[in-house]
Amino acid sequence: MADIENVIIVGSGPAGYTAALYTARANLNPLVIEGFFWGGLLQQTTEVENYPGFRDGIMGPELMQTMRDQAERFGTRFITDVASKVELATEPGGVHKVWIDDDVHLARTVILAMGAEHKKLGVPGEEELGGRGVSYCATCDAAFFKDKHIAVIGGGDSAMEEAIFLAKFGAKVHVVNRRAELRASKIMADRARSEATIEFVTPYVVEEFAAVEGQLPTLRLKHAEGGEDREIADVGSFIAIGHEPQSEIVAGQVPVDDEGYVKTEGRSTRTGLPGVFAAGDLVDHTYRQAVTAAGSGCQAALDAEWYIRDTPEIPTPEAMPEGDLAEAQWAQPEPSGVPVT
Ligand code: NDP
Repeated sequence: MADIENVIIVGSGPAGYTAALYTARANLNPLVIEGFFWGGLLQQTTEVENYPGFRDGIMGPELMQTMRDQAERFGTRFITDVASKVELATEPGGVHKVWIDDDVHLARTVILAMGAEHKKLGVPGEEELGGRGVSYCATCDAAFFKDKHIAVIGGGDSAMEEAIFLAKFGAKVHVVNRRAELRASKIMADRARSEATIEFVTPYVVEEFAAVEGQLPTLRLKHAEGGEDREIADVGSFIAIGHEPQSEIVAGQVPVDDEGYVKTEGRSTRTGLPGVFAAGDLVDHTYRQAVTAAGSGCQAALDAEWYIRDTPEIPTPEAMPEGDLAEAQWAQPEPSGVPVT
């Protein structure tokens, strides 16, 4: 039987890695199940200009690598694989189980930080043409559409960011939005508008991505207010209409809201199950920023530490700092890296 971990963190965006950093610094020797594509959605962005501490901005992948390295420096262990199933205990002090295929990992506490994934349009052709003219990640796939026509679907900041990035590659970038007004912030919308190769196509909804032999798909658009419908032929499309939480593996075990976001109690990260905490985009449909995710990862780590300390059924790990755990985070001069079981 596997050893019982103090804490397993499922997920590896800013929330997961910050939870790892904090629990590692509390000598809890965390195990992160980080997925194959570790680093979360920031791995797919370019410049991050609003993460505090980086005056001139930082590239998303570099930020995530730095967060991972920082967590590792204090003894975090990583498994670069996907958690396939969980069985969460319902009694205080109970042991939670997390599977990676047939391997089971046991833990006193689990921090859920699976984040969110790209929302799908759910129209014909979207799935079939994924990777063949339909994409969700400009930084990953832009190079395939050099000097071609490109469509970006959506009117939020993500769509503006994708369009601005893609303007360097495409002959023309068509930003297709279902409303004439954009949801994007003024600064991002203005930047997009100032690009000569970006054209706004509104108000149109996507009806279909139609496969065409020997060229990129045709994008079929319906005018949202009864005007003339349109088609854009031979076009590479990027869908940027927001995100949805990755809560499938805990469905039916922890409370989720109508949209699938994990519910937490008050201002804490407690899920309602003893020893199970949730953080980051998995719980947050309002703020969804890297910095807020990192902040809630910190809260989840402290909630987990307090739970371990205050649950009589759990033997207090020997190396756990005494006294106020939040203060202990900055009181440690050097990482211990000492494994605790
Ligand atoms: P948003 O929810 O802000 O925007 C989603 C966009 O997609 C809206 O225009 C929405 O239209 C449209 N949309 C949603 N569902 C559909 C659908 N089924 N069919 C067609 N269109 C649809 O998501 P974002 O990912 O853009 O942004 C999320 C958060 O991240 C925001 O807070 C944003 O500010 C932030 N962000 C910041 C960045 C930056 O500052 N550099 C970069 C990227 C994101 P409608 O408006 O009609 O609902």
